Amino acid sequence: MSNHRKLAPGKLVIASHNAGKVREIRALLEPFGIEPVSAGDLNLPEPEETGTTFAENALLKAHASAKASGLPALADDSGLCVAALGGAPGVYTADWSEKQWFEADALGGPGRDWYLAMGKVEGKLAELGPDADRSAYFTCTLALAWPDGHAELFEGRVNGTLAWPPRGTMGFGYDPVFVPLGRTQSFAELDPAEKHAMSHRADAFRKLVEAVF
Ligand code: IMP
Repeated sequence: MSNHRKLAPGKLVIASHNAGKVREIRALLEPFGIEPVSAGDLNLPEPEETGTTFAENALLKAHASAKASGLPALADDSGLCVAALGGAPGVYTADWSEKQWFEADALGGPGRDWYLAMGKVEGKLAELGPDADRSAYFTCTLALAWPDGHAELFEGRVNGTLAWPPRGTMGFGYDPVFVPLGRTQSFAELDPAEKHAMSHRADAFRKLVEAVF
């Protein structure tokens, strides 16, 4: 018997405003009698990610949604860690996609641009020379929080290498440059079902499912 708190069938808030993540989490939850509702659909506020670790940020988001909705809430904090860059962009993975004021005009207005972000990673690797180690991993920390303040954490990971130029149109974020170990296609070239079976999110989900269902 595990001493994790069990999650009863019913509504669960997906504490994310990232459409790509919400889509993947919905697909992963489908088989468990859970009714996912997204934080966006409930108009829940999006807390600032002020933590310095994936776990801190995942807990911040999950607790905020659970408190605001009165329902259990699941948050995902994830990122890309590049070995040769000392684990960067890491918890700042999403920030690396933010357009600077001087880039916004040329890139269709302010906001996030994933090609800009992938280019930044590639630029830093290029500074290290042609023999730079291109290994990287995606990591995913899931926080499941209840309105009474209880929370459970699960961590998953997928190892791979970085490709350049970006390839493929499926998935989201840094998928076009990430080639999982043992494959030749990037995450954005793989069928979504295949990505779901091997991703960092799937790995964290397997641990969550074992513990709370
Ligand atoms: P955060 O967890 O909201 O701070 O954002 C993490 C960022 O990491 C996302 O916005 C994505 O750009 C990136 N990321 C996380 N998981 C994946 C993935 O499965 N594929 C591609 N990029 C990802």
